[in-house]
Amino acid sequence: MAPSLPPGRNPYRTLLIFGAPGSGKGTQGTALGGIPRFVHFACGEVFRSLDTRTELGQAFLEYSSRGELVPDELTVKLWDEHIDRMVDAGRFKPDIDFLVLDGIPRNQRQAELMDSHISVERVFHLTCPDRDKLIARLKKRALKDNRLDDANEEVIRKRLLTYETETKPVLDFYKPRGLTKVIDATQPPVAVMKEILEGIMELGDLPTA
Ligand code: ADP
Repeated sequence: MAPSLPPGRNPYRTLLIFGAPGSGKGTQGTALGGIPRFVHFACGEVFRSLDTRTELGQAFLEYSSRGELVPDELTVKLWDEHIDRMVDAGRFKPDIDFLVLDGIPRNQRQAELMDSHISVERVFHLTCPDRDKLIARLKKRALKDNRLDDANEEVIRKRLLTYETETKPVLDFYKPRGLTKVIDATQPPVAVMKEILEGIMELGDLPTA
């Protein structure tokens, strides 16, 4: 993927939902994506929807089953192509829609690769310092959503470690821009949503339906 934007294209207005596995990013992203002019992109979901016979589908299975990240260039290319398809299908209109990213960028390199393509207006950091609570949430999700990477405690612990060592530094990448809002992820989902919406309401020039 090219690090620079094609001529004539503006960076996408973007909101990042950020947090550890199990912090509720998907729940919030999905809810936000139900509001007109907000388009949710959940990176893990797009990976899970890949045909596992393809090279990328195989790579996803291999890395995710170990609790590791899929390599950055592949991931950002997948993201870029998926967004282009959404634009072509009329499901994302970059000139009027907000892009809600959940699960990407997931390390500093991805943030750098994506930086010229997105204009990040808010980072919502869903925090849950109680690791046992996260693990309990993931195990519950394993049963409900048939997620293999949620079923095994060793893989869960590796994912939490990957989050601490690789993903958390993304916060430092955006820190100088002063866009981050920290939200207690142990609150009821509706209370988390309220705080996210308050953060969005502070932005200027909100899209009309
Ligand atoms: P969670 O945040 O609960 O771990 P996701 O569904 O977001 O779950 O991700 C599942 C797996 O998909 C990750 O463990 C990783 O292997 C892969 N993945 C998702 N997003 C990315 C990304 N941006 N970069 C690399 N790998 C990713």
